[in-house]
Amino acid sequence: MNKIDLNNFRVASSETARDINRRIVLNLVRKHQPISRASIARRSGMQRSTVSAITEQLLAERWVIEGATGHLPRGRKPTFLHLNLDRSGIIGVDIHPDVTTLAVANLDMKILAHESMPTGNDPNDFIARLGRRIVDLMRAHPKSSYEGIGISVPGRIDPASHRLTFAPNLHWHDVDFQAPLEQLTGLKVEIENAANACALTELWANRHGEGVSNLIAVTVSEGIGVGMIMNGQLLRGAQGVTGEFGHVSLDASGPKCHCGNRGCWEVLASNTAAMRSYAAFASGRKVQAGSKSDMSPLPFSDLLRLAEQNDVIAGKSLDQMAHQLGAGLAMLVTGLAPEVIVVIGEVTRAWNRVGPIVDAVIQQRSLTHANTRIVTSDPETWPRLRGAITLVAQRQFMAQLM
Ligand SMILES: [Zn+2]
Repeated sequence: MNKIDLNNFRVASSETARDINRRIVLNLVRKHQPISRASIARRSGMQRSTVSAITEQLLAERWVIEGATGHLPRGRKPTFLHLNLDRSGIIGVDIHPDVTTLAVANLDMKILAHESMPTGNDPNDFIARLGRRIVDLMRAHPKSSYEGIGISVPGRIDPASHRLTFAPNLHWHDVDFQAPLEQLTGLKVEIENAANACALTELWANRHGEGVSNLIAVTVSEGIGVGMIMNGQLLRGAQGVTGEFGHVSLDASGPKCHCGNRGCWEVLASNTAAMRSYAAFASGRKVQAGSKSDMSPLPFSDLLRLAEQNDVIAGKSLDQMAHQLGAGLAMLVTGLAPEVIVVIGEVTRAWNRVGPIVDAVIQQRSLTHANTRIVTSDPETWPRLRGAITLVAQRQFMAQLM
């Protein structure tokens, strides 16, 4: 069951209802803190006595704490409830082909500390190193408990086996992160495709309005990932590989992709595509000038900086990437018509330049009446890492389990 709906919950009445009601109360405290018991009862439709019993339990378990008293006109003074942010920590891990970032966050998703490590080529060696780093990180940031580890990966996870099955940019096949990391750290591990995790966190953070239930997250980095929430449900599909629009071929005679295909959307529109165009333009210029071409690829962050400084070749490479990004986004707008598409990645730093090109291509190519808003997620807020952290946080707060 992939149902997530934080807003249209029903108060359950069966045996398992207690757990569901508990998550509803905890989620209302998270969203509306400081909040009174009366307000929780009003917002949830639960009996006051049920709310009182649940809050007593949450207070005893130190999930919530009581704060200041409020003032009501008729003289009663309700006590407000807050999340106990010191109670628990969450570990988030964001894997990229070159670098992996890990962080400690509190229950409110605030990142308290972060560090990075090289990813490397060997998955077993990586898992062993990651396990040690996580244990060290927890020791450096003692909490009364750690709720778990959330991992976002540039690949697809089989929902039955929880193994990484498709990750062309990592070059890893059929890897089990969960069992060895749980053994090394003693914590429960949640692992998810990075774009799926980003889609979840965008909905969870409620950045796009209460009514949004069709949202697509597009992560743009070494490749392109697409995570889709449709009618409030995260789409994973039978083998967990739903959403691989990054590997839809848009140009059969285009450059070769790591997946084996040619001209995939991600080969044309990822950071790697802009870096490849830049290298081609720059070596062309060198050949014209009569010198030998010995270019090593320019890092994408440098390419963005050069474009900002009006370097013609960097600008041209970025514009080409923007055009191809728009072509793929037009496919998503026409085919799926979500309310919101969130673009995540370093390229959003240059959205002043890239955004208008993307919008123009979408307008030109998508002729339906889809009213999709294209928005960006600020790279400074670590969207992929927050996605990983959400995977763990949602276990405590979601009214319905994923
Ligand atoms: Zn491909």
